[in-house]
Amino acid sequence: MSDREISLVGAGLVGSLLAIFLAKRGFQVSVYERRPDLRQTDISAGKSINLALANRGIFPLDQVGLMDQVQKIMLPMRGRMLHDEQGQTSFQAYGQKEHEVIYSISRGQLNALLLDAAEQTGRVKLFFNHRCQKVDFAKNQLEFFDGAKGETKLISFEQVIGSDGSGSAIRKAILEQACEQNSEEPLGHSYKELCMPASADGRFAMEADALHIWPRGEYMQIALPNLDGSFTVTLFMPNKGEVSFEGIDSASKLRAFYEANFSDSLPLLPSLADDYFNNPTGSLMTVRCKPWSYQNKALLLGDAAHAIVPFHGQGMNCGFEDCVGLMECMDASDSWDEVFKSFEHLRKPNSDAIADLAIANYVEMRNTVRDPKFHLKKQLAFQLEGLYPELFIPQYSMVMFHRMPYARAQQIGRVQEQILNRCVEGVDGPDNLDLSLARRLVEENRSSLN
Ligand SMILES: Cc1cc2nc3c(=O)[nH]c(=O)nc-3n(C[C@H](O)[C@H](O)[C@H](O)COP(=O)(O)OP(=O)(O)OC[C@H]3O[C@@H](n4cnc5c(N)ncnc54)[C@H](O)[C@@H]3O)c2cc1C
Repeated sequence: MSDREISLVGAGLVGSLLAIFLAKRGFQVSVYERRPDLRQTDISAGKSINLALANRGIFPLDQVGLMDQVQKIMLPMRGRMLHDEQGQTSFQAYGQKEHEVIYSISRGQLNALLLDAAEQTGRVKLFFNHRCQKVDFAKNQLEFFDGAKGETKLISFEQVIGSDGSGSAIRKAILEQACEQNSEEPLGHSYKELCMPASADGRFAMEADALHIWPRGEYMQIALPNLDGSFTVTLFMPNKGEVSFEGIDSASKLRAFYEANFSDSLPLLPSLADDYFNNPTGSLMTVRCKPWSYQNKALLLGDAAHAIVPFHGQGMNCGFEDCVGLMECMDASDSWDEVFKSFEHLRKPNSDAIADLAIANYVEMRNTVRDPKFHLKKQLAFQLEGLYPELFIPQYSMVMFHRMPYARAQQIGRVQEQILNRCVEGVDGPDNLDLSLARRLVEENRSSLN
């Protein structure tokens, strides 16, 4: 297959990484991106400025030899820093091993780094301001609107990969040919990004090595650190209702809401009202579709195939893992048709699983973390991991620090949850945990946990 041409639509995080993988395999890659070059224009305002990078995302970056560069722009987050209504904080480590941390990284910087690396392969051509509008599968032609020239153009392709995100034009074109599943399920909650600047002396206003969470039941606020000492703060709330983006519609309501719920963060958010009323409100949805490909001509990858809600911090990580999965399928066959089908077979059950886990994690982050039983279970899970390092890896760790298929992590996680629930029944504190019961249950479930 190498030395052939391939077209990608979408030069976001996943498309630009995929271009590098394909170039390294010898392909000539043309990447069409609807937006201007983000290395020359600031286009990130208020839209998911930073993200959590974890093991599954690091592995592909390492495979293309970029981790030395990426390391310079990432910040470790060792656990959750929970903020209660009174402003008291408590820290909960994500894992119990030194390397079990996740990293905050700027979307813009990472994307720029990937675009540079793609160009440096000498085999990738980037076409900015090219919005894909239509795919003509009979003629193997893509129709673009060239925003710089203000004209429509037709470009021929042999194979096209849609890495064009959750609103994918390529997905629409594939599903017009054949459609077994086409679900775009809104969460009913949205998000707003706010800025917590560095303090006057350039330092972080809160502990830098944590992902901060203000869990408040139906809604929550989180904050991730940036290299310049600031935090990007994200408020997640329902779209409608008393406490919602619709309901909080004036500066006085916003202030009262923050005084009642996030009082410790209020003095650290000098531009709260400006950010809240001027930054876009981002919507959140889960996309599930089938098929992911059309004949030997087109394939979907990343959010275009499986957009998920951001609460497990896995959308980009999963999309990066897709790239490795596609390379494995290409190793196994020379036929595009087979490659596309085996890719979907490999990845779809896993992207479905992480989609479910991500929704469940929203409930955990905004609500369950407030339950003392939750902390008891986390503590017990760590103890069991210490006793059975190969057999009892807590679900969060399986997703964030390991590379086992998401679907397997989900399946094992269910068994773990049953064990943990049994062990904390009627228990009011860590001293009363019955470790012998926990060990017995682990032994009894050895085959399902393995
Ligand atoms: C608030 C928020 C927080 C998140 N946090 C995390 C996190 O912590 N960790 C994590 O792993 N993931 C996170 N995610 C998810 C992550 O952002 C996505 O999974 C990731 O960006 C997917 O990459 P992608 O390249 O597939 O799609 P995108 O990043 O959406 O890129 C698609 C690209 O295609 C271009 N495009 C779209 N349509 C067309 C067209 N018709 N023609 C040409 N080009 C087109 C777009 O301009 C864009 O550049 C978060 C998402 C949100 C919203």
